[in-house]
Amino acid sequence: MQPYLKRAWAEVSLARLKKNVEIIKSLNSPKTEIMAVVKADAYGHGDEHIIKCLAEKCGIKYFAVSNLDEAIAARKFCPDAEILILGYTPPEYAHEISMYNIIQGVVSYGYAEKLAQNTPEPIRCHIKIDTGMGRIGLKYNTPKECADEIVQIMQIDKISVEGIYTHFAAADSNNPDNITYTDNQEKFILDVYDILVSMEINLPHIHFMNSAATCYRNSSESTLSRAGIIIYGLHPDISLDIPDGIEPVMELKAVISQVKTIPAGTCISYGRTFMAEHEMRVATVTIGYADGYSRLLSSKGEILIHGRRCKIVGRVCMDQLIVDVSKVPQAESGDIVTLIGRDGDDIITADELASIYGTIGYEVICGISKRVPRIYID
Ligand SMILES: *Cc1c(COP(=O)(O)O)cnc(C)c1O
Repeated sequence: MQPYLKRAWAEVSLARLKKNVEIIKSLNSPKTEIMAVVKADAYGHGDEHIIKCLAEKCGIKYFAVSNLDEAIAARKFCPDAEILILGYTPPEYAHEISMYNIIQGVVSYGYAEKLAQNTPEPIRCHIKIDTGMGRIGLKYNTPKECADEIVQIMQIDKISVEGIYTHFAAADSNNPDNITYTDNQEKFILDVYDILVSMEINLPHIHFMNSAATCYRNSSESTLSRAGIIIYGLHPDISLDIPDGIEPVMELKAVISQVKTIPAGTCISYGRTFMAEHEMRVATVTIGYADGYSRLLSSKGEILIHGRRCKIVGRVCMDQLIVDVSKVPQAESGDIVTLIGRDGDDIITADELASIYGTIGYEVICGISKRVPRIYID
């Protein structure tokens, strides 16, 4: 383990990552391979260690990222990987895409043409179809029109189409309307694929499963499952269970810098939003919103100290926060505290924190800032 300042740090368990991947593999049909989604620095876990572990220890061959910088980084960590850019790359970078043997998501004929104009070499593509997400991709009322544009794209010199894909808007919901909506999204892309097959175009890839679909509506027709949040052990949606054995990969820790007993009437932190009603013991902890621990958790969040939940009192500051340790008499300066993770019998998950301030676990883990060193444990 590398040396690091024991102030605020994130422990990333590669053993849990491996276990999560094993569980996800067991959900998928033998025809479906995992495409690990490692955008945004592997959802805040650190792309280098995560990609190397997935490629070298878990046998993952396919990776998805959001942009060219992430793709080039992934290429350096894993020379043999298949890397798909899900998002936009300015066409003037088309040459870099082909140079690094990256696959670009293509959203229209016009975009494909511009890519082709900017590279002397063929460029590998998967064509994105907007079947209901309303974000990017070919948008048509009928699969036939969509297939026609794909055929046109395939005729562009230097454009090498290897697959089609789409993204579900609400696969993480068991509301009947949403299920029908997702059924229709899936049917649309399958119809596009069938039309292409009827024209003797057999693309190697068609993919539409994200984490939620992988868990709740796994399909052997998707050649890849683009699994993001689930490999990191969080819920696509807090209200739905995830498969047994899947556990969060990241824990967030800090230390107590000082413990004090304060008399009734003492104010705590900026704005004096908290005033002690009686004598109490409070501990100051070495983490704040600049570390990605949201200020929206002021007077709301809880942290674990010696296995007990301690409530945040007053506002979360940039680098520090204060908690009530009246019920933890042994708490003292230097103790390690858990903001996300397990301590004793209790656990605080990123999903739980997210629900306190109205966001999703994804945002919590992606938001752990650069200042927080990631420590990898096996
Ligand atoms: C981020 C993303 C994913 C992964 O989503 P999860 O919910 O984290 O599994 C899959 N596909 C696309 C297009 C994405 O943008």
